Amino acid sequence: MKLLIVEDEPKTGEYLRQGLGEAGFVVDWARNGLDGHHLAMSGDYDLVVLDVMLPDIDGWRIVRSLREAGRSTPVLFLSARDTVEDRVRGLELGADDYLVKPFAFTELLARIHTLLRRGRVAAAPEQLQVADLVLDLQRRRASRGGARIALTGKEFALLELLMRRRGEVLPRSLIASQVWDMNFDSDTNVIDVAIRRLRAKVDDGYSPKLIQTVRGMGYLLDVPDTPDPS
Ligand code: CA
Repeated sequence: MKLLIVEDEPKTGEYLRQGLGEAGFVVDWARNGLDGHHLAMSGDYDLVVLDVMLPDIDGWRIVRSLREAGRSTPVLFLSARDTVEDRVRGLELGADDYLVKPFAFTELLARIHTLLRRGRVAAAPEQLQVADLVLDLQRRRASRGGARIALTGKEFALLELLMRRRGEVLPRSLIASQVWDMNFDSDTNVIDVAIRRLRAKVDDGYSPKLIQTVRGMGYLLDVPDTPDPS
């Protein structure tokens, strides 16, 4: 799960980045409204934690732009302001929840989980399936042909990405940004190693082979067009 934090106060931003990172999220932190606006509009985030008072583009405008562009990414407003009008305005503009600073981190986390669950129920299936490979998103379990496959957290995230975008060639740079909190570095073969490990678990001993390498482009997961020679 990938979150965007838009927060101009360094201490709060760092606190959020670290806390949410430790809670298992991949986190991008925009330190001003302009970057936040750009990332929210162009990135593929599961949720945005949005400070209202920003020096350049404020939170109201960011959420309005998002909704006007038809993006339904859940937005949790964070604000030091605590008037009824502010809350109403935030919710009217399309924010999904509103938390007043200072807040307890546990409360923030609980609300994030609620919003993510709500979004998932509305928009996404509870499990993904390609051939006999099944990923149970609720129970965080993978199986093939009914046999349980033990995956690490990163392997699960990688497989989830490949299955959600079944049949689509995913460049390494996209995989890096979605599964690892890093930008693509051509010297690293982290992705290739991770794919190799995942393949060994998901495809070795099974037919057809689902994880495919598209030379010079990336990886995709699908049932192959031609029968598997093995
Ligand atoms: Ca602020």
